[in-house]
Amino acid sequence: MRVEFNDGEVVGLTADNPGPLTLAGTNSWIVGREGAWVIDPGPDQSLHIEQIAAEVAGRGGLAGIALTHGHGDHSDGVERLLASSGRTVTVVGPVPHGEGSPAHGSQHGPLEVHRLPGHTADHVAYIYEGIAFTGDAIFAESSVFVSPGSGSLAGYLQALEQLASRQPIVLAPGHGPVINDPETRINQQIAHRLDRERRLLEALASGSRTVDQLLAEVWDDVPEALLPAAAVTLAAHLDKLDDEASLPEGVERPTVPDWII
Ligand SMILES: [Zn+2]
Repeated sequence: MRVEFNDGEVVGLTADNPGPLTLAGTNSWIVGREGAWVIDPGPDQSLHIEQIAAEVAGRGGLAGIALTHGHGDHSDGVERLLASSGRTVTVVGPVPHGEGSPAHGSQHGPLEVHRLPGHTADHVAYIYEGIAFTGDAIFAESSVFVSPGSGSLAGYLQALEQLASRQPIVLAPGHGPVINDPETRINQQIAHRLDRERRLLEALASGSRTVDQLLAEVWDDVPEALLPAAAVTLAAHLDKLDDEASLPEGVERPTVPDWII
């Protein structure tokens, strides 16, 4: 897939890594004409990185790389892109390749950082000319998984509200189609999380305590392939209830793989 904004000043290229969590594949975004920044080079796939490098070469070369978060489907291609560009450029963004999570509001080339924790604690978005590059914080047609941790889910909902208050014109996500009505979609996503919380509280009130019971009752619409991701988000919901002192005794917590956080 190739998407263009601002008369081609911004281009999106999708990697060939489709899947239940990556949807059609990872979207890499290229910004600028006189020196180009690449947001999320994507997986370490030679064809995808070659396509990015060719696009960048026609724009005065690589000026910088920005990562929304450290998951491999966004960051594994960094080294190959750096090698193919033949340049040493700044890599902005959370580990493993970057210089650490950049400060909210900081400017890197054309990109302004907007902290957007939730999917990972150090997840960020980048804003340029009303376009918000939102990584795995929000998708057009499905929900993203939220990592557990004290304050994680509450911080996610708050960061989404802050993003909506910036009134972006379009959201350019890390997977799936662009979001042309950001305010509506952000409000839907917040409402979706609060609805799951309401149903989780009902299930807990009715006596459910195991992960399997809670997933079956609250995430009953989720396909099998996405249940592990739903379990991660369940863990985040349980942490939020724990923070708010509204979690009953004896609730089983999901096991969350290390790479998630
Ligand atoms: Zn991703």
